[in-house]
Amino acid sequence: MSSSDFVSNPPRFCPRCGGHLSERTVEMEERPRLVCDQCQRIFYINPKVVAGIIIERGGRLLLLRRSIEPRYGSWTFPAGFMEIDETAEEAAAREAEEEVGLTVKAGPLVGVYSRPAPEAPGILTVVFQGQKPKGPVKIGHEALEARWFAPDDIPWDDLSFETTQWALRDWLRAREDTRRRPQRAARRPPRRGG
Ligand SMILES: [Zn+2]
Repeated sequence: MSSSDFVSNPPRFCPRCGGHLSERTVEMEERPRLVCDQCQRIFYINPKVVAGIIIERGGRLLLLRRSIEPRYGSWTFPAGFMEIDETAEEAAAREAEEEVGLTVKAGPLVGVYSRPAPEAPGILTVVFQGQKPKGPVKIGHEALEARWFAPDDIPWDDLSFETTQWALRDWLRAREDTRRRPQRAARRPPRRGG
């Protein structure tokens, strides 16, 4: 269940004790909260966190075509919900392993993206660069296919989510900056004297 489902169709029972949850005004809270009638605990509805990874090899980046809803058949990079007992980097590396069979190191950060509920799913997406990919590409059950794309061939009109688009643009920008930097330094006139 995504966070937006929680907004449109809030849970009715306390996950701790099974008591009934009702929306109440609570002291020190800035908005009404779901509170358990029995144990009085507040049930907070927060965004979920997705970790994603953009993997580059030989100047191309790896995208996969989703074999699951939502957005079946569209292109995205490996990404998925974080487990409670892992870091964002670990989650991103795990998704790479599960979805495309590659062992990668996650980092540095590409960006953090969010689209709040109720209009969007209420998900925070954290995207890393995938460094030093090892192994052959082997797709998991959530992909129809995976393909290495040159930056000019990114299928912009057929990407899975708006956040996919935002992250790829940031990844490209960071990549161009890195490439331009040494040239810029080389163009500087030599210093005279000392
Ligand atoms: Zn309770």
